[in-house]
Amino acid sequence: MKRILITGGAGFIGSHLSERLLAEGNEIICLDNFFTGSKNNIRHLISNDHFELVRHDVTKEYYAEVDEIYNLACPASPVHYQYNAIKTIKTSVLGAVNMLGLAKRCKAKILQASTSEVYGDPTVHPQREDYWGNVNPIGIRSCYDEGKRCAETLMMDYYRQNKVDVRIIRIFNTYGPNMDANDGRVVSNFIVQALQNQDITIYGDGSQTRSFCYVDDLVDGMIKMMNNKAGFIGPVNLGNPSERTILDFAKLIIELSNSNSKIVFRPLPKDDPTRRKPDITLAKEKLDWEPKIDIKEGLLKTIEYFDGKINANK
Ligand code: NAD
Ligand code: UDP
Repeated sequence: MKRILITGGAGFIGSHLSERLLAEGNEIICLDNFFTGSKNNIRHLISNDHFELVRHDVTKEYYAEVDEIYNLACPASPVHYQYNAIKTIKTSVLGAVNMLGLAKRCKAKILQASTSEVYGDPTVHPQREDYWGNVNPIGIRSCYDEGKRCAETLMMDYYRQNKVDVRIIRIFNTYGPNMDANDGRVVSNFIVQALQNQDITIYGDGSQTRSFCYVDDLVDGMIKMMNNKAGFIGPVNLGNPSERTILDFAKLIIELSNSNSKIVFRPLPKDDPTRRKPDITLAKEKLDWEPKIDIKEGLLKTIEYFDGKINANK
C-alpha cells in the first residue's frame, strides 16, 4: 500500500483522483485549504480508514511520510485565481517549494499539475511540449501562468540539483462532475445557465477555441504519468485534442440539455487565449494514453450532475 499526498484534493480534479487512488488500494492524505474545493466533493470518502483529510495551506510547510505527491493545490478558474492574484502566485511557487522539499526529504515521487496556460496565447497550433509559449508576464492572467511556469522550473531544478523524482503534466481544459457551479469556468457557467433557461454568456464573439477533456480520462493519464517506469518526467500534455469554438460549444450544451436559453455576447476578458488544442503525440508514445470519452457522453454526465445539484437546492 502506498501513502499518497494529494494537495488540492478536495477540488474538482483532486476529488476524482482521491477517489480513484483510494479505490486502487492506496492510503490517501487529502490536503486542502478549501478556497475553491469543498468537503462535499470528498464527503463519501471521509469514513474510509485509508483516507485522511487535512486542512492546510500549501504556502506553509507540511510534514508527513509519503511515497507519492500529486501537487494540485491552486485555484484553476480565472475568476478565482484573479480574486487574490498575489495569493495565487504564492500558492504555485511556495506550494511547489514546500512540496518539493517534502519529496526530497521523503524520497517521494512528485507530480506537478501544470497547465496549457504555460503556452499563453499560443502562436503555435496545436501546442507541443517543446513550444515555449507566448505569455504576458504582467497581465491579469500572469499570476496563474507565471506561477505555474515557475513551478515547472522548480520541478526541473530539484530534479537536476537534488535528483528528486519529478513528473510534470500540462493539463488542458478538463470538465466533469464536482466542478463548482459558481466557479466561473465556461463548462459550469454554460451548463448551469442552460439548465435554468438563463442567457448563455459568451465572452467575445465566441470564435476562440478550446479542447475539452473529461475528468476520468485525465485521471487515467495522471496515474499513468506518475507510474511510468521509463523515467519519463515530461512535461507532457494531457488533454483532448478535439477542438471547438466557444460558440459551437454553447450550442452543443443548449442542445444536450434541451434548453430554451438564448446566447448573449459579453466583453472578452483581457489576454483570453484565442486558440488552444493539445498535441498529444508524446502522451500516446510515452504513456500509451489518449482520451476515450466522447464530448457528448462526458457532457451528458456533467449535465446530470449539475441538474442534481440545482434540484437539491430548490
Ligand atoms: P479547483 O479549484 O477545483 O481545485 C483546486 C484545489 O486547490 C481546491 O480544492 C482549492 O481549495 C485548493 N487550494 C487552492 N489554494 C490552496 C492552497 N494555498 N493550499 C491548499 N489548497 C489550496 O481546480 P481544478 O480544476 O481541480 O484544478 C486542479 C489543478 O489542476 C490546479 O492546479 C489547476 O491549476 C490544474 N489545472 C486544471 C485544469 C482544468 O481544466 N480543470 C486545467 C489546467 C490545470
Ligand atoms: N467563457 C465564456 N463564457 C463564460 C465563461 C467563459 O465565453 O461564461 C470563455 C472564456 O472567455 C474563454 C473560454 O470560455 O475563452 C474558456 O474559459 P474558462 O474560464 O473555462 O477557461 P480558460 O481556458 O480561459 O482558462
